Amino acid sequence: MLIYVHVPFCRTRCRYCAFFSSPLGRGVDPAASPAVTAYADTLFLELAHWGDRLGGSEVESVFFGGGTPSLLPPRLVGLILERIGKYFHLAPRAEITLEANPESLRGGHRAAQYLTAGVNRLSLGVQSMDETMLRVLGRSHKAADSLHSVFLAREAGFANISVDLMWGLPGQSVRQWLQTLKDVLRMNPEHVSAYGLTLEPGTELEREVEEGRLRLPEERDQNIMFMEGAALLEQNGYLHYEVSNFARMGFQCRHNTGYWEGEDYLGLGPSATSTIAGRRWTNPAGQNAWDTRVRQRTLGSEVEELTLRTRALELMMLRLRTARGLRMQAYRELTGRDFLRDHKRMVQALHENGLIRIRNGYLRLTRSGMLVSNAILSNLFARADEVLRQGVPSGKTSAALAGEEKTLPQAQAGEGPEVVGVRWPRADTV
Ligand code: SF4
Repeated sequence: MLIYVHVPFCRTRCRYCAFFSSPLGRGVDPAASPAVTAYADTLFLELAHWGDRLGGSEVESVFFGGGTPSLLPPRLVGLILERIGKYFHLAPRAEITLEANPESLRGGHRAAQYLTAGVNRLSLGVQSMDETMLRVLGRSHKAADSLHSVFLAREAGFANISVDLMWGLPGQSVRQWLQTLKDVLRMNPEHVSAYGLTLEPGTELEREVEEGRLRLPEERDQNIMFMEGAALLEQNGYLHYEVSNFARMGFQCRHNTGYWEGEDYLGLGPSATSTIAGRRWTNPAGQNAWDTRVRQRTLGSEVEELTLRTRALELMMLRLRTARGLRMQAYRELTGRDFLRDHKRMVQALHENGLIRIRNGYLRLTRSGMLVSNAILSNLFARADEVLRQGVPSGKTSAALAGEEKTLPQAQAGEGPEVVGVRWPRADTV
């Protein structure tokens, strides 16, 4: 099992961000903040609640995400990990990741204290090494803070550092993006996540682009950013193991890989989602509403039972984003259906255009396919959803189908919407 801990605080709000978080304010000491104390109290109650119900489960990964988890005092992070260890079986070599903003590691021995607390992987929100881009994004750090934070983390003894980056930013040129990557390569992180910017509705950045005060790079430039960026990282020894993720051999993020492989995960904290044994629920987003739910012991009361169709669609969508791809036998075991037969025309067109490869029972996107993965996956999703609504071939009902959608008739292979338009749409985003 994986555990995700959502930390809902940030110093200030970045201009592109739509995540749930509360601004703590610039001068506020998190160790003395009543909001952080209240959060910790509720989190411990939530952990005890799930400890009673799921206690003893083996936990292979804990991920502190947010928000800005590096605002939490290291001592508190240590206490949370201690409680997790008390209620669950924390695997001896579990991956313990903490997302950190570069400026929050400044001064003192914070990185070393997180390491002592039990964190063994830092995920640094670098985003860009270009000061203009950092200002456009509304980040509160400078490029020098990023460089310094990696230095401090290494000095503290961290042997697993990930750097988060964004490309396709307003006003960004291909040259600027590749320069950011070269600067990051000099820091030698074990892992790089490179996300294309998504303009989230309601954010300052979205408004400024809408009003024409900022301009996104041309589509052609965004495509070059993705293709050349990925090539540069690969030339420097990073495996492109998921659309937006690159790692040195053996340093793929185990937590995210667990999500993509359909492992159970327990989400703690406001707005966190959990999926355990085919059931999914999401905590309320507000800290007060979450606190009430925890104290009333009504966590997980609004549960979505994952149907076969949902599980099959998720399997397809998540696996196809990875370099390994979709094991078609896994699709068959879950649905009793033949993936290639169900998606014959679409698969043929994608193959002819060099967007997918099929090998050893796996179907995967090529680099060009990854560039347009959103378009490919939304078309496949629509087709698969339609097919799975119709059901499974008679006599091929899999064990996974027991009790679910057994009576649906067989679908016709080769039907469905036209294949994805094979052109260069807007570069992929996450
Ligand atoms: S630090 Fe992260 S979570 Fe907080 S506002 Fe910025 S992008 Fe959003």
